[in-house]
Amino acid sequence: MKRKLVVGNWKMNGDLVGNQALFEQLVGRMQSGAECALCVPFPYLAQGRCALVDSGIALGAQNLSEFDEGAYTGEVSARMLREFGCRFVIVGHSERRTLLGEDDDAVARKCKAALRGGLVPIVCVGESLAEREAGSAETVLRRQLDALAAVLDGASLARLVVAYEPLWAIGTGRTASADQIQAMLGFIRGWLSARVADAQAVRILYGGSVKADGARALFSLPESDGALVGGASLIAGQFLEICEAAAAATQGVAGDFKGS
Ligand code: PEP
Repeated sequence: MKRKLVVGNWKMNGDLVGNQALFEQLVGRMQSGAECALCVPFPYLAQGRCALVDSGIALGAQNLSEFDEGAYTGEVSARMLREFGCRFVIVGHSERRTLLGEDDDAVARKCKAALRGGLVPIVCVGESLAEREAGSAETVLRRQLDALAAVLDGASLARLVVAYEPLWAIGTGRTASADQIQAMLGFIRGWLSARVADAQAVRILYGGSVKADGARALFSLPESDGALVGGASLIAGQFLEICEAAAAATQGVAGDFKGS
């Protein structure tokens, strides 16, 4: 069975003292079973690398350059992230798409750069509330996914982790319903099936106000291979419970979904 993957996205939060306390709480209490990762801000990668060594918790970043090296002031390459021990990198988070101008094509090029540099891209896709209400959620996802297929062949697409993150559920406390999540994860699986030899092996995560309460049920949904967790990843108890739920689901223990 595929191991569920739980990825914490710290966003632009943290400081050296607070991070150390959080790392220590997580490392001390993390159980094996699920696969977990923390995507921390660039300046804290070195701290994360030391704190997470031999912990079973992987390290990740939240962005990277589409370029490998050169005159790109302020950018950080895949090779640099690898050098600091990163295994994962979040690409195309909706905050970067909407606030920082990343378009579908740039996201695709960044995924390509991540793969080229030996990182696993966690590529985020998702629709806004207006797009959902207009009935175009699948159209938006298809556009975002098709941009990936324009630059990545099937073997490369198979190496992605895809995170479905509806914009209206991120940081809002509003979780998508089980039916909504299942429909969109199924849509992504279907899109992958047409392009990847073993689409079932690709991990598809849900992200959007995931909390400990409800995580177990989220992981019991067919097609749900884990979660991308923002706010709750900054609270040790919450993140640990989500990881425990993922470990239990990997071992086949389910729950009732409590989405809104
Ligand atoms: C995220 O940052 O990707 C996210 C899903 O945030 P939150 O869990 O806070 O909604």
